[in-house]
Amino acid sequence: MRIATLPAPDDFDAWRDAARALAAAEVPPDAVVWQVGDAPVDLFAAAGDADAAPAAAPAGFSVPRGFIDLARSVVMANDPERFALLYTALFRLRREPRLVEDHADPLVRRLEVLAKNVRRDIHKMRAFLRFREVEEEGGASRYVAWFEPEHHIVRANAAFFVNRFAAMRWSILTPEVSLHWDGKALSEGPGASKADAPEGDPTEEVWKTYYASIFNPARVKIGAMLKEMPRKYWKNMPETALVPQLIAGAQARESGMIETARSSVGGNVQAAWEALRDEAAACTRCHLYKHATQTVFGEGPVDAAMMFVGEQPGDQEDLAGTPFVGPAGQVFNRAVAAAEIDRTRVYVTNAVKHFKFEQRGKRRIHSKPDTGEIQACRWWIEQEQMLVRPQVTVALGATAARSLLGRTVTIGRERGRAIALPDGGEAWITVHPSYLLRLPDEAQKQEEYARFVEDLKLAKAALRD
Ligand code: SF4
Repeated sequence: MRIATLPAPDDFDAWRDAARALAAAEVPPDAVVWQVGDAPVDLFAAAGDADAAPAAAPAGFSVPRGFIDLARSVVMANDPERFALLYTALFRLRREPRLVEDHADPLVRRLEVLAKNVRRDIHKMRAFLRFREVEEEGGASRYVAWFEPEHHIVRANAAFFVNRFAAMRWSILTPEVSLHWDGKALSEGPGASKADAPEGDPTEEVWKTYYASIFNPARVKIGAMLKEMPRKYWKNMPETALVPQLIAGAQARESGMIETARSSVGGNVQAAWEALRDEAAACTRCHLYKHATQTVFGEGPVDAAMMFVGEQPGDQEDLAGTPFVGPAGQVFNRAVAAAEIDRTRVYVTNAVKHFKFEQRGKRRIHSKPDTGEIQACRWWIEQEQMLVRPQVTVALGATAARSLLGRTVTIGRERGRAIALPDGGEAWITVHPSYLLRLPDEAQKQEEYARFVEDLKLAKAALRD
């Protein structure tokens, strides 16, 4: 039996080094015991998925990027079996290089669930942590927050808080570790208890800045609020007493919040967009997040004059985390080039940000999002629109058009003309490139492709100089 000791419960690099050495020595997963520091060895947890280990593994192989990303998250999970599970997966990868793409595999599925739980906990810490102001010796202010994460995510979140509160001196206390920022350097201390954190209301100004900086007006929507703000965190958030007032006038506040977010980041819309994307990564507004790999958020310059909205990520987009990279995305790219639109200067996104599919054997078959799912995900596209403020938004297909206009749209009736949007921009409607791929007749395919390019040219021509 080999014992692999890691210095910290979230130390991915240490796990990777140990796993690499063990795999090179061809040590099977069931012969390794994983432990953190001086913690007692959990022999049961260390057993891993021994049945899954191949009898002999070939030497020398490269680990896919997808596995590394998955492992980085899984290492932070509060599950004593995580290191053994990851090592089992690594060992199998030597024989099954596409293992992480097999979402029906029980081990992959389990790792994905752990990773998803970790991502959600990272989001919760960003969204629900509140600072209280304390006066230190010499009269200087320090802002102290208490948080109880479910997973080992505190260090992974350190950079986020340093970026958001670079000008403040702050401490974040958690049971496992504490973080301290003095305005220049970050240091780490031992875990703390809730009694070590100050009581009282969060500091109003800090709260406002924070609220704007994390850019989460979803809290003023009652449904989203109840869903996204677990009661566990309410005790740290006295502003929850303001819920009735927040709900009244929520719509106006959302717009105001976006303006605040824009100005609070010094006009740095990019930072506001990044915060929005991070928020969306943990979205649970509808059930689609449960089966997809990840949220596929929009991409492109935040000052783009043109925005394209597709339906939803496909199989390849779901795995890559990037929109418009699958077969339909390639048709789109070709048509955009044919319409002489600079692809690098447009913002592309989808009406629904999680892949909806039916599992048939090992294949994941695209399934059309329903009205409820489109409506739930409209929340994100509205925020993207308010941030990017494109002059022209092109809806690709009926789902995108419905999301954009809030009503059922017949493409044949609406394509080829501008539709005014409430924000002063214009919507243009055309088909989704996947429609072109599905046409069985080659001549019709060519004809429809040419019409599609013409639609894009018309939309481009509507841009102001
Ligand atoms: S599909 Fe949209 S609304 Fe539903 S969980 Fe995903 S991001 Fe949230």
